[in-house]
Amino acid sequence: MTSQIRIAGVVKESIVDGPGIRFVVFAQGCPHQCEGCHNPATHDLSGGHLVAIDTIIAEMKKNPLLDGITLSGGEPFLQSAGFSELARCAQAAGYHVMTYTGYTYETLTAKNDQEWLRLLKYTDLLVDGRFEAEQKSLLLKFRGSHNQRIIDVKKSQQKNQLVLSEIS
Ligand code: SF4
Repeated sequence: MTSQIRIAGVVKESIVDGPGIRFVVFAQGCPHQCEGCHNPATHDLSGGHLVAIDTIIAEMKKNPLLDGITLSGGEPFLQSAGFSELARCAQAAGYHVMTYTGYTYETLTAKNDQEWLRLLKYTDLLVDGRFEAEQKSLLLKFRGSHNQRIIDVKKSQQKNQLVLSEIS
């Protein structure tokens, strides 16, 4: 099991990256090349730095106000072994997990990749899809363009069909 992940950085307290107060981890490395990307410094697969999952969880526990962790990017699913372990540890510690991805939910589930499915398993809310500049809106909650969806992963898996989150 991977105990380290490659990240661009963290934000220790955010109210704009999901419900409540959240610790945000930005994955380093992204293949999607969205035009108008808000975070191009995260694209290089060998950029950023390695950090131990335990270090992140320990850092989170220093802040009693945190509600959850947000896995952003970059593309967390490029490091699905490590990010799924981080998500598992965060849930085990009582945190809500929100994950951003440039892949669609349908792509993630159709491939039947065990590590991708593991990261989904430990994700409460998934924001999916590439950032599409022509569908950009500043009015959307927790996402940048209209094609992106906030998906309730647990309900989607229980019902075997995509269920949008009530916060959408
Ligand atoms: S998925 Fe996110 S980080 Fe990757 S290119 Fe698109 S907007 Fe940028």
